[in-house]
Amino acid sequence: MADAKTKPEKSAKGGKKAKTGKTAGKAETMNFQAEMSRLLDIVAHSLYSDKDIFLRELISNSSDACDRLRHAALTEPELAAGDADYGIAVTVDKTARTVSVADNGIGMNRDDLIANLGTIAKSGTAAFLESLTGDARKDTSLIGQFGVGFYSAFMVADRVEVVTRRAGEDQAWRWSSDGKGSFTVAPAERAGRGTTVIIHLDKDQDGYLAKEKLSGIVKRYSDHIPFPITVAGADDAPEQANTGAALWTRPKSEITADQYKEFYHHVAHMADDPWATLHFHAEGVIDYRALLFVPSTRPLDLFQPERESRVKLYVKRVFITDHETGLVPAWLRFVRGIVDSEDLPLNVSREMLQDNPVTAKIRTTIVKRLLDDLDKKAKDDSDAYETFWNNFGAVLKEGIYEGAAERDRLVKLARFRSTAADGLVSLDDYIGRIKEGQDEIYYISGDDVDALARSPQLEGFRAKGVEVLLLTDPVDEFWVPMLGIYEGKPFKSVTRGGADLSKIKGAGGEDAKDEKAESELAPLVAAIKLALGDKVKDVRSSDRLTDSAVCLVAGEGDMDIHLERILRAHKQLDTAAARILEINPKHALIKALGEAARQDGKAPLIEDAAHLLLDQARILEGEPVTDAADFAKRMSKAMAAGLG
Ligand code: ADP
Ligand code: MG
Repeated sequence: MADAKTKPEKSAKGGKKAKTGKTAGKAETMNFQAEMSRLLDIVAHSLYSDKDIFLRELISNSSDACDRLRHAALTEPELAAGDADYGIAVTVDKTARTVSVADNGIGMNRDDLIANLGTIAKSGTAAFLESLTGDARKDTSLIGQFGVGFYSAFMVADRVEVVTRRAGEDQAWRWSSDGKGSFTVAPAERAGRGTTVIIHLDKDQDGYLAKEKLSGIVKRYSDHIPFPITVAGADDAPEQANTGAALWTRPKSEITADQYKEFYHHVAHMADDPWATLHFHAEGVIDYRALLFVPSTRPLDLFQPERESRVKLYVKRVFITDHETGLVPAWLRFVRGIVDSEDLPLNVSREMLQDNPVTAKIRTTIVKRLLDDLDKKAKDDSDAYETFWNNFGAVLKEGIYEGAAERDRLVKLARFRSTAADGLVSLDDYIGRIKEGQDEIYYISGDDVDALARSPQLEGFRAKGVEVLLLTDPVDEFWVPMLGIYEGKPFKSVTRGGADLSKIKGAGGEDAKDEKAESELAPLVAAIKLALGDKVKDVRSSDRLTDSAVCLVAGEGDMDIHLERILRAHKQLDTAAARILEINPKHALIKALGEAARQDGKAPLIEDAAHLLLDQARILEGEPVTDAADFAKRMSKAMAAGLG
């Protein structure tokens, strides 16, 4: 909330305009919410390279306001009484040097004004501000989503006034600000409901006093707005500047790529270009139009717990809602756009939308269309598909986990980082490269691809040319066990259970298990077990290591190491299972220790080494050492011995 200053200021503007009527009242001065001031500064000075878009943003808001009133009036017709022709009027006053944008939409009362034009209501504001890079181009797509379009008016204005009256209320209000930290709110008068935004142009912005220029901007950016937009000088007759029909009702052949893009900006509140645009009319048992977009960047709310879709539902051109429509499953929640149904009743309620056969049917066909499109993109342009997958793959995988009806298609669409290629690979690619004697699909999961690629557990697989998938989305821990098997091959974590690589025919020739080396190592294995006690589940010689001396793996029936870490981080688990310590019989250090273990009097040395090896394996795993002081002591001892 904006914090109201206690001292009510007699603002010249607010006071003058308000004093004539019975509603005369004092203007209150309030400060913008702290974060707001900073955003405002960015929006007004560096965000957009093209100042023209201020008009697009104001018209977009007016259009939303008309949509919202038209919907509210379905149940409360008196709200729109006397004026049901929604429209937006742009007016130039050359003498006053103002451009105003007026609508007869829902309007705002005092509280609305303060909440909407003084604060950023969205959650995560602070985190968002931290993520700003200061690079205007990169920040644009983020900021656009934060609902700051209105402030773009300050790119061309030295003062902005908003005179507004909420539908169904008698009192109008005037908001006024120079965009520099504070604003005033005062009672005002307005003939009817709706909102007028008055831009007092900056000294050097006289270009916007030309009607033709404004009409051109409307045509260019706002043609898709489904309400008539007129442009006029102070005294002349208004002329409609846009087509005024809902974009999705027009034939595809008549819509340009730019028009689709501008509609996307408006409907999605996103500032990027759509990655995919899907426009179709389904006729038959159910009749609806859909205009859907896949963004080319991640929307900020993508991983919020509500997992809500933002696709807007219209019924016969009337906006109904963008909440809980049931039109798009949660695992496609990044899709933006509209669905306009001919079959649903205009007064359809939220409850009616749940389990509604019409929405269920629409949903099935929309999902099919979207997946068809993704299939096609994956085949035709794998680079573009990679961009998509990097943005939204983690969300699609939720559908696999949830057992969506389309699960098999989703599995085919899935892409992975892998040890066998630089780019992304599919499961079919993997199956195509599978080695003779390999019965499993190997994967390793963790937070970071590069760290994963360096995991010691991979060494043996790499040496044999056996591909391992590198999984870094938290959801991987859940869908992989849920799916369990692909093309008859079970998934298998390389950090769990025994890896019997000897039966796989590798590129590097056959190296069958070396029985002799193993029996020579037996005394060392026993000594390490004795030293570590219940700190480890087991100690054994490994054939998955080539370069590293040790690694940790989970027991066959135990939880995967990465999953356990995720659950502990989310406080869903407070214990850590003991792991199996695997040692590399071919490593020089292990060989030397093996030698020592067969001699007398080396027990203290082996004990220190055992603890250091376990700590080393934990560090490689990204875990802290068990006891830092103990670790430092043993380490110093070992180094001193080495130097001595
Ligand atoms: P966004 O449109 O993304 O929410 P804006 O900064 O453009 O962000 O607008 C902020 C809010 O101000 C809107 O969400 C709306 O509640 C309110 N608002 C702006 N213009 C109007 C208008 N013409 N009529 C009614 N409400 C408006
Ligand atoms: Mg807006």
